[in-house]
Amino acid sequence: MRRIPVFFLVLAMAGFTGADPVRVQITTGGHPYDPSFYSLFEHEGLSVTVNPHPSGFLRDLRKSADVLVLYDLADTTGEEERRNLEAFLESGRGLVVLHHAIADNWQWKWWYQEVVGGRFLMGQDGEMPRSAAKANEVIRARPVADHPILKGVGTLNLLDETYNGMWISPNSRVLMETDNPNSNKPVVWIGPWRKSRVAVIQLGHGPAAHRDPGYRKLVHNAILWAAGRLD
Ligand SMILES: [Zn+2]
Repeated sequence: MRRIPVFFLVLAMAGFTGADPVRVQITTGGHPYDPSFYSLFEHEGLSVTVNPHPSGFLRDLRKSADVLVLYDLADTTGEEERRNLEAFLESGRGLVVLHHAIADNWQWKWWYQEVVGGRFLMGQDGEMPRSAAKANEVIRARPVADHPILKGVGTLNLLDETYNGMWISPNSRVLMETDNPNSNKPVVWIGPWRKSRVAVIQLGHGPAAHRDPGYRKLVHNAILWAAGRLD
């Protein structure tokens, strides 16, 4: 028997007049966040559902979502949840990984090596120490590539949280970098997964980022690109 999602919230549907919205599932859980996060999705053309971890993965996501936006910090360990995630990404549906969700599944090799192309270590792994986070850092992030996601974004100057000591795959395509000494250099990249589009954005801890026009553009572009609507 399939469990019914405990929390099912539909945002931004009212007022939408377009014929073919991008269906977005946001999955949260395992980490607190400011509700300003939701303002990132106030766009026409998006039909957004919030379905937190783990209920968000307990059904066939292919039927209800074109893009999965992760803002959770939790490991997906159940067989059914993993199968649903794999099927979603095998099907060509898009993935956008935001901020602390980079630490999801830090011990699931397929996930961090082949899909996300980055790994925030929540603990030591052999020679690799735990990654570090530092709040209230000024982060200047500049575009270092030509990519649809960067259209209209420019250089970002955010009061945000840095991550350092992450592993980032040589197969990831880096789109934005920072010189903040407490941060890994890459802060926005495209994951190595080729069966669907995967965008990873390290930035986005709190209201300062969520309310920043450049950051908002970046996230919106990432969603459209992951859905195959921006080239
Ligand atoms: Zn954070």
